[in-house]
Amino acid sequence: MAQTVGARSGSDSAPPPAPDSFVPEDFECKVCFNYFDLDRHIPKLLSCSHTFCRECLEKLHSLEGRGWRVGCPVCRHRTPVREYQIQNLPDNVLLTDSLITKHENASDREEQTSPISLSGTFLWS
Ligand SMILES: [Zn+2]
Ligand SMILES: [Zn+2]
Repeated sequence: MAQTVGARSGSDSAPPPAPDSFVPEDFECKVCFNYFDLDRHIPKLLSCSHTFCRECLEKLHSLEGRGWRVGCPVCRHRTPVREYQIQNLPDNVLLTDSLITKHENASDREEQTSPISLSGTFLWS
């Protein structure tokens, strides 16, 4: 039996850097590892520029006694929470925008409008 191990002409160099600045792990919450969405896991931006999902921040906030600030699980920076509501924190619009774009591409449809034809008929009275 002749084993022919083909010489592969492949380069062993490092993979090229992703052209997009967004790597997939940026789309997941570093606390619960859920992917961000536009509902319970909407990405909320803290003033330290770390982003976590709304659900995690709400849990964190209630653990801290629902004060007027919430601590960042990464750097411990405390971000003021307006009216004690996590939902009042700003969304990370870079993430929500790309989430919305994904949604819209899925339901992309064109509606054709028929040209309006005017029938000019005189009515004799
Ligand atoms: Zn989370
Ligand atoms: Zn932080």
